[in-house]
Amino acid sequence: MASLEEMLNQLDALEEELVILEQELVRIPSVNTGSMPTGNETPVCDFIKKWFLNDGIESDILFRDPNRGNIISKLEGTSGKTGLIFMSHTDVVPVEDESKWTYPPFSAEIHDGRIYGRGASDCKGLLTAQMMAMRVLKNNNVSLKDSLVLISGADEEHGGRYGFGWLAENHPEVLDAPFAVNEGGGTPIEAAGSLTYVLGVGEKGRLQVEIDIKGTSSHASVPWQGNNALYRLQKLLQRLEEYEPERDTSTSLFEHLSTFAIEHKPSAENVDEIILEQEKRNPRFASMLKALSRMTITPTMINGGIKSNSVPEDIHLTCDVRTLPNQSEDYLRQELDKLIEGIPGIEYEIDYMAVPNSSEFETELMESLKMATQKALDRDDIQFVPAISTGFTDSRFTRPLGVITYGFSGSHPEDDPMLSRAHGTDESIGIKSLVSGAKVMLHLAYDLLAVK
Ligand SMILES: [Zn+2]
Repeated sequence: MASLEEMLNQLDALEEELVILEQELVRIPSVNTGSMPTGNETPVCDFIKKWFLNDGIESDILFRDPNRGNIISKLEGTSGKTGLIFMSHTDVVPVEDESKWTYPPFSAEIHDGRIYGRGASDCKGLLTAQMMAMRVLKNNNVSLKDSLVLISGADEEHGGRYGFGWLAENHPEVLDAPFAVNEGGGTPIEAAGSLTYVLGVGEKGRLQVEIDIKGTSSHASVPWQGNNALYRLQKLLQRLEEYEPERDTSTSLFEHLSTFAIEHKPSAENVDEIILEQEKRNPRFASMLKALSRMTITPTMINGGIKSNSVPEDIHLTCDVRTLPNQSEDYLRQELDKLIEGIPGIEYEIDYMAVPNSSEFETELMESLKMATQKALDRDDIQFVPAISTGFTDSRFTRPLGVITYGFSGSHPEDDPMLSRAHGTDESIGIKSLVSGAKVMLHLAYDLLAVK
């Protein structure tokens, strides 16, 4: 059996194969438009299954819809239990305007050390790194105590109802593991004097509030005979614009601000001041601190009025709401009730799109990932900070099952995260990140699972 060091070196030598694998994955257009029939994830699963079969790694494809498979590939351990899940997703978001792309979005062309294409970074890059790490472990006959399971799900980009959401409900046994590593973190961020990585430990919740504002109709020539719902809406909108959500510094990132040379101990009272200081120095970080210290309620869509000469009696307003992990639906209700107080004719309904979720930061998985990153990059000045993201991933389905799940892709520090453009035009991934990501995944699995 090769040593860990030798296997990490093998991954350097496998750079070209990593590139080819990523290109092959990107060239399968598994576009998820959100309305069925869509996704086409099964061809990606079939490709992965075949790729692994060459090494003697077995896979299952589980599905709710035959064209929307979820691949589950397993490197069997002796205990029969799963020790670690490599998570990712096979679907990609649609290409909005192909004419704006410099290179065709499903061509996976290489330019300046990057592979371009839809899905290159979200999420086929992570999938590539995880697949290659698994192959190298297998080909070096590493024996595992607990199994390593790679699961790439369908439909991540549109709610997961065919992917991890469906698996969690119908096959929770395949997600039964202490640890999982997924997308949603693992990029470097500027910090004082050391290479600092953001570890995705949780996600804000996303809710949608549908608000009905009622008035009484009348002919617009005698408006005093009615009650114009637009004026009621105006009051509500003004309150929403002026709303000062409660400041909250309970998420774990706030315990790690000293990493960013912020010496004040953050609290609800001083967090705005801290953010203000950061806005000059590091606007991206300031925006993150702002999002992680409060709930947001944002009006996004409006609908109402039926005729140009009628006083409207029914207006509909939709708001997007993002909650922190400790903020419940009751908390939102309490805040909304305050916002509508005294304005007549208002009713609302709350719809959950994604529940807020988080895993602990101080865990064996975090320690192992940190060591893996140090070894993969051959640096000893690496720090991790926990972050709650404002978007969400499939991790929201595994965390409630008790699986400690982190977002971590192991991007290379020389690979500018701004170039990855997930969901955007000219999405790409740096080849260096494929190699560093594969090394991180291999080291992690070896450290946690291998019989030594
Ligand atoms: Zn993704």
